Amino acid sequence: MQQKLVIANWKMNGDITANYNLLTKLMGSTQISNNTDIVICPPSVYLSQVQDIIETSQIKLGAQNVCSAISGAYTGEISIDMLAEFDCQYVLVGHSERRSIYNENDKEIAKKIIQIVNAKQTPVFCIGETLTQRADNETEAVILSQIKYIIDIVGLEYFKSVVIAYEPIWAIGTGQTATAAQAQEIHLIIRNYLNGLDAAAFSGLKILYGGSVNASNADELIAQPDIDGFLVGSASLKAESFEQICLAGQAKTESIQPELTPV
Ligand code: PEP
Repeated sequence: MQQKLVIANWKMNGDITANYNLLTKLMGSTQISNNTDIVICPPSVYLSQVQDIIETSQIKLGAQNVCSAISGAYTGEISIDMLAEFDCQYVLVGHSERRSIYNENDKEIAKKIIQIVNAKQTPVFCIGETLTQRADNETEAVILSQIKYIIDIVGLEYFKSVVIAYEPIWAIGTGQTATAAQAQEIHLIIRNYLNGLDAAAFSGLKILYGGSVNASNADELIAQPDIDGFLVGSASLKAESFEQICLAGQAKTESIQPELTPV
């Protein structure tokens, strides 16, 4: 039974009061089961606050970014050791906003993945195509080349630790979600490709979908066999919608449990 994973990417949103209200509401939910792993990635200045609030709950902490260097003269950056002090367990890498706004390239992403895995944290490696690439039927080639490039640098031993987040760029923050069929098609391509390289290494691979996931579309998306959870931006900023998305994950886990056979 695959544990579902739902990650909140708060981006540059939140404040001390709003964070507290959102998290206490979420933690007050009695419905979210242990079969769904929930991760909150707040802005780094709130890591300590969020860690304190969620400490006694099942919710885990993640970071939105990490520096590819270990320490030193990198003004404005945050190291993996600093994240470890806050008990961060997941780190986003390669998010399309970091690639496009901060020119983060594949080499840099690969270095970050190495740092994260060495620190025994989990990289959440984001990949996705633009609308033009999709229109030009390049989606599969783009996605696989993003994966291959990183594997060539880090090797399978490191890559097998990543969680992949498939996030079509045209769906991020636009309200335009990929259909369940479109997402499933790409997730299956990714899974087949990695299984072809080493089925044992990738037997527990989690592939998340991200891109305008909300309380209304989460059920249909999670019902797809190769969607193992979500990376959620704007809908993670409201306790009600994020809780519904977490519950959609739970419904899938429960629906695939084998029926008990009477003895
Ligand atoms: C994201 O930023 O990873 C994301 C999926 O954002 P949104 O849910 O707002 O599209």
